[in-house]
Order: sequence, then structure tokens, then C-alpha cells
Amino acid sequence: MFRRVISPALYGLIVICFFLPWVNVSCQNYKIASISGIQFVTGKTLEEPQMFKSQFGMGQYGMQNVPSKSPKEGKIDPQLYVILALVCVITGLVLSFVKGRIGSLTTSISAVAGFIFVILQKFKLENELVQKSQGLIQLDFLLGFYLTLLLLLAAVAVNVYSLTQSEASVTTSVKKPPESAFKFCPECGAKNEAGNVFCKECGTKFPE
Ligand SMILES: [Zn+2]
Repeated sequence: MFRRVISPALYGLIVICFFLPWVNVSCQNYKIASISGIQFVTGKTLEEPQMFKSQFGMGQYGMQNVPSKSPKEGKIDPQLYVILALVCVITGLVLSFVKGRIGSLTTSISAVAGFIFVILQKFKLENELVQKSQGLIQLDFLLGFYLTLLLLLAAVAVNVYSLTQSEASVTTSVKKPPESAFKFCPECGAKNEAGNVFCKECGTKFPE
């Protein structure tokens, strides 16, 4: 079963993708920060020019001033959707080791959920940062971000494919002769065809 190898491998790659840069944040073509998936989970302190915060009031857009620290610091709060996506990825990684239809089904669901949460985060960032700053702040989504989405889709595909394969094998097993076509010898327990009068192993006559 190729799912048992491919699915954990895909999820391993997705975890690695969380450590790659996801987004470049820039302000009027000046790059402020590059943020990885894991930095969206933990939150990230940004060091940017004073003018960036004072002119564009970043506090309203998910980045907050930290008064106690240097005035040149701001931060990105932990992002709920990325946290949920990471939970889905870790859940999916664990579920990849669960065999059978239940394993394939639950892994597919967690991959779909992870994909949706990553997409939602993209819309949330675009809405909060780009629109509210009236285009002064640009977000460039990077390879790590798109690779995460692509690998999540691949994980869905692998597990759904595995699910259809296991359904096919269920159908095949139904085609086998049903157990009622056999009976077991009361003396030695040997499996005999239902029509046998005497046990083929020990010769005991079957009752009735
Ligand atoms: Zn027998």
C-alpha cells in the first residue's frame, strides 16, 4: 500500500514548508519582513522603520506596537488560521499511520481542513493588511506558501485514491465465496465444503 509511505512523506514535507518563508511584507516596494508559516504560529517581532508604524498605524492591522520595547519594533500576532492549519497537518501526519479506510478518510479530511485554513489565512492577511492600508502594504506570497497548499492537495489525492482502492478491494472480497459455502468438522475442525457428507480430513460423518 503506497499510501503508508507517501502520505507520511508528504506530511513531513508540509511540516518542513512551515519553516520556509511564506510571505514577504513590503511597504511601498520596501521589504519589511519575510514571514514563515511557523512565525505566523508563534508570532513575530518585526523591526521596521519608525515611519512605517507611525504613518500607517500598524496597530489596527494585526501588527501592534510594543511600547515597552524599542520604538522600532512591531509584531505580528499569532494567526489563528495558521495555528489551526498546523494542528491539521500534525493530526494528518499521525493519521497517516492509521491503516485502512478510517485512516485514509480521516487523513483526507484533515488535509482538506488544513488547505482551507491556509487559504482563509491568505484572505485574512490580504483583507487586514492590504485593503485597510489602502494598498500601501503589499504581500507577496512565496514558494513555501504555495508548496504547502500543493502538498496538502497531494495528501488529499493520495488518501482519496487509497480510499477508492480499499473500496475496490472490499468489492473484490465480496465476490469470494461466502463463508456459508463451508462448514467445519465438529471432530477435528477442518474446513469442508458445505456439501460434504464426511470430513475430508478425518472422515467423521457430519450431522444431518
Ligand atoms: Zn474432521
